[in-house]
Parts: sequence; structure tokens; C-alpha cells
Amino acid sequence: MNRTDVRTLQRFLAKSGSYRGKIDGLRGPKTRTAVKATLEAHADLVPAAAAAWSDRRRAVACLQLACRLKTIEVGPIDGLWGPQTEYAAEVLATIQATGQPPAPWRDQQPLDANPNGWVREAELHQALGSPTRKPPMVVVPCPWQLCLAWDLGAHPSGIGCHERVAESLTRILSRVNDHYGPERLRDLGLHRYGGCYNKRRKRGGTAWSTHAWGIAIDWDPAHNKLKWGRDRARLAQPEYDTWWRLWEEEGWVSLGRTRNFDWMHVQAAKL
Ligand SMILES: [Zn+2]
Repeated sequence: MNRTDVRTLQRFLAKSGSYRGKIDGLRGPKTRTAVKATLEAHADLVPAAAAAWSDRRRAVACLQLACRLKTIEVGPIDGLWGPQTEYAAEVLATIQATGQPPAPWRDQQPLDANPNGWVREAELHQALGSPTRKPPMVVVPCPWQLCLAWDLGAHPSGIGCHERVAESLTRILSRVNDHYGPERLRDLGLHRYGGCYNKRRKRGGTAWSTHAWGIAIDWDPAHNKLKWGRDRARLAQPEYDTWWRLWEEEGWVSLGRTRNFDWMHVQAAKL
């Protein structure tokens, strides 16, 4: 149970009215009191022995209870942190963040949503104008700390992108942060920001890159090289399924997920 999971627990406790502290991922006295009250209120579902368990184990049991109340398959409420509990906690976090359980994570099919009406690459000139002129840009702050992929000591304050995609990007970054938390994002290499706006042609092509409009972002390029497929690219691994789903729900397209190359790249334009 890491800080992200404790935050999930605190959100549940806050929503059920027993917790008024911060959603900070720390198991302090307020969290402890709320856990106790909640376990007691659901004594029909919680083993009697729970009263004698350690604070940590009771916190895990309470998170298991939270999953059970949402009918997420969590197994017995035993206060033990196993893979079933871990996955159930992730499902609960996704429901808290998006109102819905994650899309079935075993099917690799990218979602084909388009709620923001992103146009096709071929229509970008018409929709957003020529990239020979710099697009109207906005800096979207990132809720977790970014490092420049080519200079890890440099921390950009946010992502400079086309104003047309800024609101969508803000929602995605916030949901990603809610789901994984800053610590896990760092472990996953998602603090390594590979750039957004860049007035250039496609690598290995002659057409303008979607980066030239400021509507594409690269992530962790060192571990997701242009020609690497899912056998090598880090962003193709299953722990990134939710990451990609959160982009795809907003209509963004991963070249990795759709074409199996350039896994670093995600864009607000259809292919
Ligand atoms: Zn790119």
C-alpha cells in the first residue's frame, strides 16, 4: 500500500463523511480515526478480529471494504496487501477519477473516442492554419514534476501547447496524476518530458510533424525510440494501459498503440 493507495482510501473516507483531513497519502491520526469509525460502521462485512489488527492492516482492510462497497472484486477483507487488493485499489482509484472502471485492460485495442472533435492530420492546415506561423500557445502546468528528457536537471513548469488542446491536456494530466500519483509516475519514467511544440517536419518524412502545431507530446524518448515496437518500448508495457486510456478517452492518438512505432508520441489529431 503506497501513498497513492492511501490517497484512494482518504478520498473514500472523505466522500463517506468520516474524514475531513487532506488527501495527502499519509496515514495520520485523522485517517486512523476515520478508518476505525468506518470499519465499525460496517461490522457486518469486516471480521471481528480486525479490532486487534495493526493500523496499517486496518487501513488496508478499510480500502478493501471501500472496493467491496463499489462491487469491485477484492477477495476477503483480511487487511493483507496482495495482487488482488492492489488491482482492486487501482480500479477504485480510476472510478474516483473518471466515474468509470478502467476499460478491460487485457485487450490492447486503442479506444476510438473523439469528444473534442480532433481533425485528421491531413486536415490540420485547414483547421489550425499553416505551421510556418507560430501557433497560439498556452503553457499547461503539469501536476507532477517534469524533467527535460535531454537534460534531467531542468524542470519545465509545464507543457507549452496549442491553445486548442490545452483544456483537454489539463484534464488528462490531472487524471493521470490522480491515478498513478507523482511517485509512481517517476518510477514509470513519465516525468521524462520529450517536448511538444517544435516547428519541424516528420522524422523520416516530408510532411509537417504534428509537433509543428503544438498538438503532440513526446514522453520518455530514451526508452521509446522511434523505430522500437512493443517488444522493446517501455510505454507498451501493461502498467501504461491506464495512461493510454486516459489519453484515448480525450481522443488523443498514440502512434505506438495504433501503429506500433514511435511509442513516445501522442497527438491530438486522428491518423
Ligand atoms: Zn512526437
